[in-house]
Amino acid sequence: MRQATVVIVGAGPVGLTAALLLGHQDIRVTVLEAESAISDDLRASTFHPPTLDMMAPYGITARMLEEGLICPTWQIRMHPTGDRAVFDLSALAGETDHPYRLQCEQSKFGQFLLDAVGALPNVTVRFSTQVTGLRQDGDKVYVNTQSPAGAEVLTADYCIGADGARSTIRRLLDIDMAGDIYPETTILATTRFPFHEHLDDLSNVSYCWKPGGTFSLLRLPDLWRVSLHPREGVSVEQAMTPEVQQEMLHDIVPEAGDIEVLKTRPYRIHRRLAAAYRQGRVFLAGDAAHLNSPSGGMGMNGGIHDAFNLCEKFIAVLTEGADVSILDRYERQRRPVAEEEIIQQAHRNRSRMREHDPERRRAILDDLQRTTSDPVKLKSYLMKSSMIDGLRRAAATA
Ligand SMILES: Cc1cc2nc3c(=O)[nH]c(=O)nc-3n(C[C@H](O)[C@H](O)[C@H](O)COP(=O)(O)OP(=O)(O)OC[C@H]3O[C@@H](n4cnc5c(N)ncnc54)[C@H](O)[C@@H]3O)c2cc1C
Repeated sequence: MRQATVVIVGAGPVGLTAALLLGHQDIRVTVLEAESAISDDLRASTFHPPTLDMMAPYGITARMLEEGLICPTWQIRMHPTGDRAVFDLSALAGETDHPYRLQCEQSKFGQFLLDAVGALPNVTVRFSTQVTGLRQDGDKVYVNTQSPAGAEVLTADYCIGADGARSTIRRLLDIDMAGDIYPETTILATTRFPFHEHLDDLSNVSYCWKPGGTFSLLRLPDLWRVSLHPREGVSVEQAMTPEVQQEMLHDIVPEAGDIEVLKTRPYRIHRRLAAAYRQGRVFLAGDAAHLNSPSGGMGMNGGIHDAFNLCEKFIAVLTEGADVSILDRYERQRRPVAEEEIIQQAHRNRSRMREHDPERRRAILDDLQRTTSDPVKLKSYLMKSSMIDGLRRAAATA
């Protein structure tokens, strides 16, 4: 049996963030990851201002700024007219050191975290090690693993299940994850095609209505990520063919000619919330605890905020002698934020972009334009959408 103080299941952004925070306080951490390396799937790309503030003391934000793209504004846009509401994040100056969104691939963020924890002698990351079982008693938690070296049991004081949407830890704890799955499939495609040279005043993050549908354009330093939705009656299989993808891309820039697509992936979205974030010595964080539409880019950011909140409490208990009852505050502080500020907000963002009726779209855009042209309303909107309000709400919860 190997010993750690905290075992973290999952080397995604949430598990590695927790490892970084605990490792910096000399707490002995083992991270167990089923895959052989950090995932390079096309997943998150948007980092919100408070996440950048939180990661700055660890040198991670500086690396992200080197490799990512600053987005001073984001917009909601009517295509092809180009009429838009532009949200200028400089309104957040004074509330954050990073009054902008940063576009940087989740896989790069993961690598920066892995590099940082690699420098901490008390953090061990074990790849190709799958967690298969878990039990706990009054003193310890016992985690069963399977790796190429064979089966093993790790003992620890605490365990964090940061093992994603299909969390084994959540299943082993028999914690329900109620919610539903949205009907649509989104096709995410990456391309070097310079959309910004064809669409006037396009922000680096742009959510767009087109006649009868929607798309979004998110820019990274050397490419654009395009979220496409198959037209009515078109199957996902058809939408994955190059011909149909070209058609969808030509809805955005008809005169583009053949647009080279580098990578593509279809995905479905859930909205779900774990019934509990804690059972005894085991805690859930990130996608293991909550799932939402990526509209607004809040899932991973929220999971990172979970890791900060939970680790602050572990640090107080393990290094400062705080009473263990403060660990209960984690669920009280973070679960309502996931439900009301992340899942429901992302649902509203998704619903807004799925509105097809031209008159209702016009009314929504008028309303958003009134918001963006009123400094008080704009700041209030951005405090919410940039996840600052959610963090403050959690901090104010006893
Ligand atoms: C297309 C898309 C775009 C997105 N865009 C954004 C965005 O812009 N901003 C944003 O904030 N969020 C975004 N998200 C959401 C974001 O990707 C997730 O919220 C984030 O990956 C959650 O991180 P995590 O660490 O909780 O889980 P994961 O990243 O899923 O990591 C979990 C890890 O646990 C490992 N694991 C699982 N089971 C076991 C086991 N039994 N034993 C050991 N290891 C195990 C997995 O291999 C995995 O590495 C997007 C998602 C998608 C699909």
